[in-house]
Amino acid sequence: MLPLLALFAISFHADFEGGNLGRVDRVASNHFRCHVTGETDQDGRNRQASWFYFRIDGAKGQLLTLDLVDLPGEYNYKPTRGSITKDTLPFYSDDRQTWHELKTVDFDESVPLQRIHITPKSDSIWIAHVPPYTNRNLAQLLTEIKEAPNVKETVVGKSVKGREIPLLTIFDATVPDRGKKVIWLMFRQHSWEAGSSWAAEGAIRFLLSSNPSADRIVRGAIVKIYPMCDPDGVARGGVRFNAYGYDLNRNWDTVDPKKMPEITAERGAILDWIDSGHPVNFFLTLHNDEMPEYLEGPPDQSSATRPLMERLFQILSKTRTFAPTRTPQFDAVSTTIGKPGRMNAPQALFHDRKVPAFLIEQRIAKSPKLRREPTIADRKQFGVDLIQSLWTALQNPSDEPGAEARDGSAGN
Ligand SMILES: [Zn+2]
Repeated sequence: MLPLLALFAISFHADFEGGNLGRVDRVASNHFRCHVTGETDQDGRNRQASWFYFRIDGAKGQLLTLDLVDLPGEYNYKPTRGSITKDTLPFYSDDRQTWHELKTVDFDESVPLQRIHITPKSDSIWIAHVPPYTNRNLAQLLTEIKEAPNVKETVVGKSVKGREIPLLTIFDATVPDRGKKVIWLMFRQHSWEAGSSWAAEGAIRFLLSSNPSADRIVRGAIVKIYPMCDPDGVARGGVRFNAYGYDLNRNWDTVDPKKMPEITAERGAILDWIDSGHPVNFFLTLHNDEMPEYLEGPPDQSSATRPLMERLFQILSKTRTFAPTRTPQFDAVSTTIGKPGRMNAPQALFHDRKVPAFLIEQRIAKSPKLRREPTIADRKQFGVDLIQSLWTALQNPSDEPGAEARDGSAGN
Protein backbone atom coordinates (compact mmCIF):
# COMPACT_ATOMS: atom_id res chain seq x y z
CA MET A 1 0.00 0.00 0.00
CA LEU A 2 2.89 2.38 0.58
CA PRO A 3 3.55 3.29 -3.08
CA LEU A 4 -0.11 4.13 -3.51
CA LEU A 5 -0.08 6.38 -0.48
CA ALA A 6 3.03 8.09 -1.77
CA LEU A 7 1.34 8.56 -5.13
CA PHE A 8 -1.59 10.43 -3.69
CA ALA A 9 0.71 12.57 -1.57
CA ILE A 10 2.12 14.42 -4.61
CA SER A 11 1.03 18.04 -4.41
CA PHE A 12 1.75 21.33 -6.22
CA HIS A 13 2.19 24.68 -4.48
CA ALA A 14 2.81 28.26 -5.58
CA ASP A 15 1.60 30.15 -2.50
CA PHE A 16 4.92 31.85 -1.75
CA GLU A 17 6.63 35.05 -2.87
CA GLY A 18 7.09 35.01 -6.63
CA GLY A 19 5.26 31.69 -6.99
CA ASN A 20 2.88 31.17 -9.89
CA LEU A 21 1.21 28.17 -11.50
CA GLY A 22 -2.25 27.73 -12.96
CA ARG A 23 -4.47 24.66 -12.86
CA VAL A 24 -2.80 21.25 -12.61
CA ASP A 25 -4.54 18.25 -14.23
CA ARG A 26 -3.49 14.71 -13.52
CA VAL A 27 -3.03 12.92 -16.85
CA ALA A 28 -1.70 9.65 -15.38
CA SER A 29 -0.27 8.61 -12.03
CA ASN A 30 2.97 10.60 -12.32
CA HIS A 31 2.08 12.71 -15.33
CA PHE A 32 0.61 16.19 -14.87
CA ARG A 33 -0.58 18.93 -17.20
CA CYS A 34 0.48 22.28 -15.71
CA HIS A 35 -1.24 25.38 -17.03
CA VAL A 36 0.99 28.45 -17.16
CA THR A 37 -1.09 31.37 -15.88
CA GLY A 38 0.23 34.18 -18.06
CA GLU A 39 -1.00 37.76 -17.85
CA THR A 40 -2.62 40.29 -20.17
CA ASP A 41 -2.40 44.07 -20.15
CA GLN A 42 -5.03 46.64 -19.13
CA ASP A 43 -6.95 46.00 -22.36
CA GLY A 44 -6.75 42.22 -22.17
CA ARG A 45 -4.10 42.24 -24.91
CA ASN A 46 -0.44 41.23 -25.19
CA ARG A 47 -0.81 38.04 -23.17
CA GLN A 48 2.54 36.69 -22.11
CA ALA A 49 3.00 33.36 -20.35
CA SER A 50 6.65 33.54 -19.41
CA TRP A 51 6.69 32.81 -15.71
CA PHE A 52 6.16 29.72 -13.61
CA TYR A 53 7.63 29.00 -10.20
CA PHE A 54 6.21 26.23 -8.08
CA ARG A 55 7.00 23.55 -5.56
CA ILE A 56 6.17 19.86 -5.75
CA ASP A 57 5.91 17.97 -2.47
CA GLY A 58 5.84 14.24 -1.87
CA ALA A 59 7.42 13.01 -5.10
CA LYS A 60 10.88 12.05 -3.85
CA GLY A 61 12.42 9.35 -6.03
CA GLN A 62 9.52 9.25 -8.50
CA LEU A 63 9.94 10.08 -12.17
CA LEU A 64 7.51 12.90 -12.96
CA THR A 65 6.30 14.08 -16.35
CA LEU A 66 5.12 17.68 -16.36
CA ASP A 67 3.53 19.24 -19.44
CA LEU A 68 3.59 23.04 -19.45
CA VAL A 69 0.67 24.32 -21.54
CA ASP A 70 -1.26 27.55 -22.33
CA LEU A 71 1.90 29.04 -23.80
CA PRO A 72 0.79 31.15 -26.83
CA GLY A 73 0.35 34.87 -26.44
CA GLU A 74 0.88 38.23 -28.07
CA TYR A 75 3.81 40.67 -28.15
CA ASN A 76 3.38 44.27 -29.27
CA TYR A 77 -0.07 43.19 -30.61
CA LYS A 78 1.40 40.40 -32.77
CA PRO A 79 0.50 36.77 -31.97
CA THR A 80 3.28 34.51 -30.72
CA ARG A 81 3.60 30.78 -30.00
CA GLY A 82 4.80 31.69 -26.57
CA SER A 83 7.88 32.47 -24.52
CA ILE A 84 8.37 28.93 -23.23
CA THR A 85 10.05 26.99 -26.02
CA LYS A 86 12.31 24.02 -26.74
CA ASP A 87 15.23 26.34 -25.96
CA THR A 88 14.14 27.70 -22.59
CA LEU A 89 15.17 24.98 -20.19
CA PRO A 90 13.65 25.29 -16.71
CA PHE A 91 15.69 25.42 -13.52
CA TYR A 92 15.09 23.33 -10.41
CA SER A 93 16.26 23.51 -6.81
CA ASP A 94 16.10 21.43 -3.65
CA ASP A 95 16.64 24.39 -1.34
CA ARG A 96 15.81 27.58 -3.31
CA GLN A 97 19.46 28.63 -2.94
CA THR A 98 21.19 26.55 -5.58
CA TRP A 99 19.45 26.32 -8.96
CA HIS A 100 20.28 23.73 -11.61
CA GLU A 101 19.45 23.88 -15.29
CA LEU A 102 17.40 20.96 -16.55
CA LYS A 103 19.52 19.43 -19.32
CA THR A 104 16.74 18.60 -21.77
CA VAL A 105 13.03 19.01 -22.35
CA ASP A 106 10.71 17.62 -24.99
CA PHE A 107 8.78 20.15 -26.99
CA ASP A 108 5.67 19.59 -29.05
CA GLU A 109 5.38 22.57 -31.39
CA SER A 110 1.90 21.56 -32.55
CA VAL A 111 0.27 22.27 -29.15
CA PRO A 112 2.66 23.96 -28.12
CA LEU A 113 3.75 22.09 -25.00
CA GLN A 114 6.99 21.84 -23.07
CA ARG A 115 7.45 18.44 -21.40
CA ILE A 116 9.70 18.16 -18.37
CA HIS A 117 10.95 14.85 -16.99
CA ILE A 118 12.31 15.07 -13.49
CA THR A 119 12.91 12.83 -10.48
CA PRO A 120 13.00 14.88 -7.25
CA LYS A 121 15.84 13.90 -4.90
CA SER A 122 14.08 15.31 -1.85
CA ASP A 123 10.57 15.69 -0.45
CA SER A 124 10.24 19.18 -1.93
CA ILE A 125 11.49 20.44 -5.27
CA TRP A 126 11.11 23.94 -6.71
CA ILE A 127 10.85 24.45 -10.46
CA ALA A 128 11.06 27.86 -12.20
CA HIS A 129 11.43 29.38 -15.66
CA VAL A 130 14.72 31.00 -14.56
CA PRO A 131 16.36 31.24 -11.11
CA PRO A 132 13.99 33.51 -9.16
CA TYR A 133 14.98 36.77 -7.49
CA THR A 134 12.32 38.17 -5.20
CA ASN A 135 11.78 41.27 -3.06
CA ARG A 136 13.15 39.25 -0.16
CA ASN A 137 16.47 38.78 -1.98
CA LEU A 138 16.70 42.53 -2.51
CA ALA A 139 15.72 43.32 1.09
CA GLN A 140 18.54 41.05 2.26
CA LEU A 141 21.03 42.83 0.02
CA LEU A 142 19.87 46.28 1.14
CA THR A 143 20.23 45.27 4.78
CA GLU A 144 23.75 43.99 4.12
CA ILE A 145 24.92 47.19 2.42
CA LYS A 146 23.13 49.62 4.73
CA GLU A 147 26.29 50.67 6.55
CA ALA A 148 28.51 50.82 3.46
CA PRO A 149 30.07 54.29 3.24
CA ASN A 150 29.47 54.97 -0.45
CA VAL A 151 25.79 54.13 -0.83
CA LYS A 152 22.70 56.14 -0.11
CA GLU A 153 19.23 54.63 -0.36
CA THR A 154 16.17 56.74 -1.03
CA VAL A 155 12.61 55.83 -1.92
CA VAL A 156 11.24 57.58 -5.01
CA GLY A 157 7.66 56.37 -4.67
CA LYS A 158 5.40 53.39 -4.13
CA SER A 159 3.87 50.74 -6.30
CA VAL A 160 0.11 50.25 -6.76
CA LYS A 161 0.14 47.90 -3.76
CA GLY A 162 2.19 50.29 -1.65
CA ARG A 163 5.62 48.66 -1.99
CA GLU A 164 8.59 51.02 -2.01
CA ILE A 165 10.52 51.82 -5.18
CA PRO A 166 14.13 52.20 -3.99
CA LEU A 167 16.84 54.26 -5.62
CA LEU A 168 20.47 53.65 -4.69
CA THR A 169 23.06 56.35 -5.26
CA ILE A 170 26.58 54.99 -5.16
CA PHE A 171 29.37 57.57 -5.08
CA ASP A 172 32.30 58.71 -2.96
CA ALA A 173 31.07 61.82 -1.15
CA THR A 174 34.63 62.75 -0.16
CA VAL A 175 35.50 63.40 -3.82
CA PRO A 176 34.04 66.64 -5.27
CA ASP A 177 31.29 65.98 -7.84
CA ARG A 178 32.77 68.22 -10.52
CA GLY A 179 33.50 66.19 -13.65
CA LYS A 180 31.90 63.01 -12.39
CA LYS A 181 30.03 60.84 -14.86
CA VAL A 182 26.43 60.12 -14.00
CA ILE A 183 25.35 56.58 -14.83
CA TRP A 184 21.70 55.67 -14.25
CA LEU A 185 20.77 51.99 -14.29
CA MET A 186 17.35 50.42 -14.17
CA PHE A 187 16.63 46.79 -13.36
CA ARG A 188 13.57 44.55 -13.24
CA GLN A 189 10.98 46.63 -15.05
CA HIS A 190 9.46 43.27 -15.98
CA SER A 191 8.80 40.89 -13.15
CA TRP A 192 9.54 37.59 -14.92
CA GLU A 193 13.05 38.81 -15.86
CA ALA A 194 14.82 37.74 -12.69
CA GLY A 195 18.16 37.66 -14.53
CA SER A 196 18.06 41.44 -14.57
CA SER A 197 17.99 41.50 -10.75
CA TRP A 198 20.89 39.06 -10.37
CA ALA A 199 22.92 41.36 -12.62
CA ALA A 200 21.88 44.33 -10.47
CA GLU A 201 23.06 42.53 -7.36
CA GLY A 202 26.39 41.73 -9.03
CA ALA A 203 26.85 45.36 -10.05
CA ILE A 204 25.94 46.75 -6.62
CA ARG A 205 28.19 44.33 -4.71
CA PHE A 206 31.07 45.06 -7.09
CA LEU A 207 30.72 48.85 -6.75
CA LEU A 208 30.77 48.57 -2.96
CA SER A 209 33.68 46.12 -2.88
CA SER A 210 37.32 46.90 -2.20
CA ASN A 211 38.26 46.08 -5.79
CA PRO A 212 40.57 48.91 -7.02
CA SER A 213 38.66 49.17 -10.28
CA ALA A 214 35.38 49.59 -8.39
CA ASP A 215 37.02 52.23 -6.21
CA ARG A 216 38.08 54.17 -9.30
CA ILE A 217 34.51 54.12 -10.63
CA VAL A 218 32.94 55.14 -7.32
CA ARG A 219 35.39 58.06 -7.08
CA GLY A 220 34.80 59.17 -10.64
CA ALA A 221 31.10 58.56 -11.12
CA ILE A 222 27.71 58.95 -9.52
CA VAL A 223 25.90 55.68 -10.13
CA LYS A 224 22.15 55.74 -9.63
CA ILE A 225 20.41 52.40 -9.56
CA TYR A 226 16.77 51.36 -9.57
CA PRO A 227 17.21 47.74 -8.44
CA MET A 228 13.51 46.83 -8.43
CA CYS A 229 11.03 48.59 -10.69
CA ASP A 230 8.06 46.22 -10.34
CA PRO A 231 7.96 44.95 -6.75
CA ASP A 232 4.25 44.02 -7.01
CA GLY A 233 4.79 41.87 -10.07
CA VAL A 234 7.77 40.18 -8.46
CA ALA A 235 5.75 39.46 -5.30
CA ARG A 236 2.82 37.85 -7.13
CA GLY A 237 4.91 36.00 -9.71
CA GLY A 238 3.81 38.27 -12.55
CA VAL A 239 5.02 38.69 -16.07
CA ARG A 240 5.47 42.26 -17.30
CA PHE A 241 2.48 44.26 -16.08
CA ASN A 242 1.77 46.20 -12.91
CA ALA A 243 -1.27 45.53 -10.69
CA TYR A 244 -3.53 47.48 -13.09
CA GLY A 245 -2.14 45.67 -16.13
CA TYR A 246 0.18 48.39 -17.40
CA ASP A 247 3.42 47.29 -19.03
CA LEU A 248 6.12 49.06 -17.05
CA ASN A 249 8.46 49.38 -20.02
CA ARG A 250 5.77 50.92 -22.15
CA ASN A 251 3.55 53.82 -21.10
CA TRP A 252 6.52 56.13 -20.51
CA ASP A 253 4.85 58.69 -22.80
CA THR A 254 1.72 58.89 -20.61
CA VAL A 255 1.30 60.18 -17.06
CA ASP A 256 -1.05 58.42 -14.66
CA PRO A 257 0.18 58.49 -11.05
CA LYS A 258 -2.77 56.37 -9.89
CA LYS A 259 -2.65 53.54 -12.41
CA MET A 260 1.10 53.62 -13.06
CA PRO A 261 2.71 55.00 -9.89
CA GLU A 262 5.87 53.00 -10.58
CA ILE A 263 6.56 54.80 -13.88
CA THR A 264 5.54 58.14 -12.37
CA ALA A 265 8.04 57.68 -9.53
CA GLU A 266 10.89 56.33 -11.63
CA ARG A 267 10.56 58.91 -14.39
CA GLY A 268 9.92 61.70 -11.86
CA ALA A 269 13.23 61.19 -10.07
CA ILE A 270 15.17 61.13 -13.34
CA LEU A 271 13.51 64.26 -14.72
CA ASP A 272 13.89 66.10 -11.38
CA TRP A 273 17.58 65.28 -11.41
CA ILE A 274 18.01 66.58 -14.95
CA ASP A 275 15.76 69.61 -14.50
CA SER A 276 17.74 70.70 -11.46
CA GLY A 277 20.82 70.98 -13.66
CA HIS A 278 22.48 67.56 -13.44
CA PRO A 279 23.58 65.43 -16.35
CA VAL A 280 22.78 61.82 -17.08
CA ASN A 281 25.75 60.69 -19.14
CA PHE A 282 24.40 57.22 -19.63
CA PHE A 283 21.08 55.52 -18.89
CA LEU A 284 20.46 51.80 -19.27
CA THR A 285 17.58 49.45 -18.59
CA LEU A 286 18.39 45.75 -18.49
CA HIS A 287 15.99 43.05 -19.70
CA ASN A 288 15.75 39.35 -20.48
CA ASP A 289 14.52 37.70 -23.64
CA GLU A 290 14.35 34.11 -24.87
CA MET A 291 16.98 33.95 -27.67
CA PRO A 292 18.02 37.50 -28.60
CA GLU A 293 20.82 39.37 -26.87
CA TYR A 294 21.60 42.92 -27.92
CA LEU A 295 22.34 46.53 -27.09
CA GLU A 296 19.85 49.06 -28.39
CA GLY A 297 20.37 52.83 -28.50
CA PRO A 298 17.90 55.67 -28.21
CA PRO A 299 15.85 56.82 -31.23
CA ASP A 300 18.64 59.23 -32.09
CA GLN A 301 18.12 60.73 -35.56
CA SER A 302 21.26 62.85 -35.23
CA SER A 303 23.38 59.81 -34.31
CA ALA A 304 25.20 61.85 -31.66
CA THR A 305 25.15 58.83 -29.35
CA ARG A 306 26.43 56.40 -32.00
CA PRO A 307 30.15 56.55 -31.01
CA LEU A 308 29.24 55.83 -27.39
CA MET A 309 26.92 52.99 -28.40
CA GLU A 310 29.52 51.39 -30.66
CA ARG A 311 32.32 51.78 -28.16
CA LEU A 312 30.24 50.17 -25.43
CA PHE A 313 29.21 47.37 -27.76
CA GLN A 314 32.83 46.59 -28.64
CA ILE A 315 33.83 46.50 -24.99
CA LEU A 316 30.82 44.46 -23.87
CA SER A 317 31.36 41.95 -26.66
CA LYS A 318 34.74 41.06 -25.17
CA THR A 319 33.29 40.33 -21.72
CA ARG A 320 32.70 36.85 -20.36
CA THR A 321 28.96 36.57 -20.78
CA PHE A 322 27.64 39.09 -23.35
CA ALA A 323 27.05 37.19 -26.61
CA PRO A 324 25.20 39.56 -28.96
CA THR A 325 22.90 38.17 -31.62
CA ARG A 326 23.06 41.39 -33.64
CA THR A 327 24.95 44.64 -33.98
CA PRO A 328 23.75 47.63 -31.93
CA GLN A 329 20.95 49.65 -33.45
CA PHE A 330 18.98 52.77 -32.68
CA ASP A 331 15.47 52.09 -31.49
CA ALA A 332 12.32 53.39 -33.21
CA VAL A 333 10.62 56.41 -31.61
CA SER A 334 7.97 54.11 -30.08
CA THR A 335 7.24 50.38 -29.93
CA THR A 336 3.90 51.02 -31.67
CA ILE A 337 4.17 54.16 -33.78
CA GLY A 338 1.22 56.52 -33.39
CA LYS A 339 -0.35 54.73 -30.41
CA PRO A 340 -0.13 56.53 -27.05
CA GLY A 341 1.30 54.56 -24.13
CA ARG A 342 3.77 52.60 -26.24
CA MET A 343 7.09 54.32 -25.53
CA ASN A 344 9.59 52.40 -23.43
CA ALA A 345 11.86 54.11 -20.91
CA PRO A 346 14.79 54.84 -23.28
CA GLN A 347 12.46 56.07 -26.03
CA ALA A 348 10.65 58.47 -23.69
CA LEU A 349 13.77 59.71 -21.86
CA PHE A 350 15.40 60.49 -25.18
CA HIS A 351 12.22 62.15 -26.43
CA ASP A 352 11.77 64.24 -23.27
CA ARG A 353 15.33 65.23 -22.34
CA LYS A 354 17.65 63.80 -25.00
CA VAL A 355 19.04 61.35 -22.44
CA PRO A 356 21.53 58.89 -24.00
CA ALA A 357 19.26 56.07 -22.95
CA PHE A 358 19.96 52.45 -23.84
CA LEU A 359 18.44 49.03 -23.41
CA ILE A 360 20.10 45.64 -23.19
CA GLU A 361 18.29 42.36 -23.70
CA GLN A 362 19.95 39.19 -22.46
CA ARG A 363 18.92 35.74 -23.50
CA ILE A 364 17.75 33.09 -21.07
CA ALA A 365 18.37 30.26 -23.57
CA LYS A 366 21.75 28.55 -23.93
CA SER A 367 24.51 31.05 -24.61
CA PRO A 368 27.02 30.17 -27.34
CA LYS A 369 29.72 31.86 -25.26
CA LEU A 370 28.93 30.04 -22.00
CA ARG A 371 27.70 26.83 -23.66
CA ARG A 372 24.88 26.68 -21.10
CA GLU A 373 21.91 28.69 -19.94
CA PRO A 374 23.13 31.68 -17.95
CA THR A 375 23.25 30.89 -14.22
CA ILE A 376 22.99 33.19 -11.21
CA ALA A 377 26.80 33.45 -11.16
CA ASP A 378 26.84 34.39 -14.85
CA ARG A 379 24.25 37.14 -14.26
CA LYS A 380 26.21 38.55 -11.34
CA GLN A 381 29.38 38.48 -13.42
CA PHE A 382 27.57 40.41 -16.14
CA GLY A 383 26.64 43.07 -13.56
CA VAL A 384 30.36 43.52 -12.83
CA ASP A 385 31.31 43.47 -16.52
CA LEU A 386 28.54 45.94 -17.34
CA ILE A 387 29.72 48.55 -14.84
CA GLN A 388 33.34 48.21 -15.92
CA SER A 389 32.40 48.35 -19.61
CA LEU A 390 30.25 51.44 -19.11
CA TRP A 391 33.00 53.18 -17.21
CA THR A 392 35.55 52.40 -19.91
CA ALA A 393 33.15 53.45 -22.69
CA LEU A 394 32.53 56.79 -20.97
CA GLN A 395 36.22 57.66 -20.80
CA ASN A 396 36.18 59.42 -24.16
CA PRO A 397 34.53 62.77 -23.41
CA SER A 398 34.75 64.26 -26.93
CA ASP A 399 31.57 62.69 -28.31
CA GLU A 400 29.56 62.46 -25.18
CA PRO A 401 26.27 64.31 -24.71
CA GLY A 402 25.51 66.19 -21.52
CA ALA A 403 27.45 68.48 -19.21
CA GLU A 404 29.50 67.76 -16.12
CA ALA A 405 28.06 67.20 -12.67
CA ARG A 406 28.20 70.09 -10.27
CA ASP A 407 29.83 70.05 -6.88
CA GLY A 408 27.93 68.94 -3.82
CA SER A 409 24.85 67.79 -5.68
CA ALA A 410 25.00 64.02 -5.69
CA GLY A 411 22.87 63.57 -2.61
CA ASN A 412 19.87 65.41 -4.02
ZN1 LIG B 1 11.68 43.25 -20.28
